[in-house]
Amino acid sequence: AGTAAALAVEGLVVGYAGAPVVDGLTLEVAPGSVVALLGANGAGKTTVLRTLSGLLTPRGGRVLLDGDDLAAVRVEDRVRRGLVQVPEGRSVVTELTVEENLQLGALWRSAGRAARRTAVDEMYDLFEPLARRRASAGHQLSGGERQMLALARALISRPRVLLLDEPSLGLAPRVVAQLFAVLRERADATGLTVLLAEQNVTSALSIADRGVVLALGEVVADAGAADLAADPALRHAYLGF
Ligand code: ATP
Repeated sequence: AGTAAALAVEGLVVGYAGAPVVDGLTLEVAPGSVVALLGANGAGKTTVLRTLSGLLTPRGGRVLLDGDDLAAVRVEDRVRRGLVQVPEGRSVVTELTVEENLQLGALWRSAGRAARRTAVDEMYDLFEPLARRRASAGHQLSGGERQMLALARALISRPRVLLLDEPSLGLAPRVVAQLFAVLRERADATGLTVLLAEQNVTSALSIADRGVVLALGEVVADAGAADLAADPALRHAYLGF
């Protein structure tokens, strides 16, 4: 109670069969901030995000959205409350055009036609390449364009807290920079709160306010992004570079 965090995790324990994969995770994400969730392959990042989305049920601990315990809140109701995970780029509807994909995303807001038009155009302003490809079908897009479309479709529903699981995977550095710049801009301009799980540590920390490093399901570092990026011992021990 009384917490200022948009998203808070308290003593989270999650596992599959056997020993827990996430064991007592505690973290807070302040409103309008970007937090990078870092850690080697298998550290538990995906497990954390799936638990926050409501796809996995924790064995212990709590997830709070604006101070509200989400234990009894189903996946779709978490989305309705503004806790949204960006799906992988290959999830875009490949038969539909970019424009149609965005219109579908805007339907969520059940606003009038004009408001939806404005919302879609706002996405074209944020993602130049999508504006040029508006009449192209999903299957004609590059991997980077699909990832942009997936992010745009999530943003158009006006989430309060956005969860991303390795959005940089397989993308060219220039595209990663473009995607991450949009996340930073939305956080600054609209107060969007972002939890970004990444193995691309340098890129993630370059736009993040804070970084949280997971190893074997526990937090081994939680610090300002610049401090983390500048800590060679930490990088060497947990981040593999
Ligand atoms: P990656 O970047 O490879 O996805 P990660 O940090 O996201 O790594 P998780 O995917 O959360 O890590 O996996 C953490 C641990 O949980 C790993 O040891 C993994 O083998 C195990 N694990 C993940 N999913 C399952 C599952 N469905 N059933 C059993 N074990 C799983």
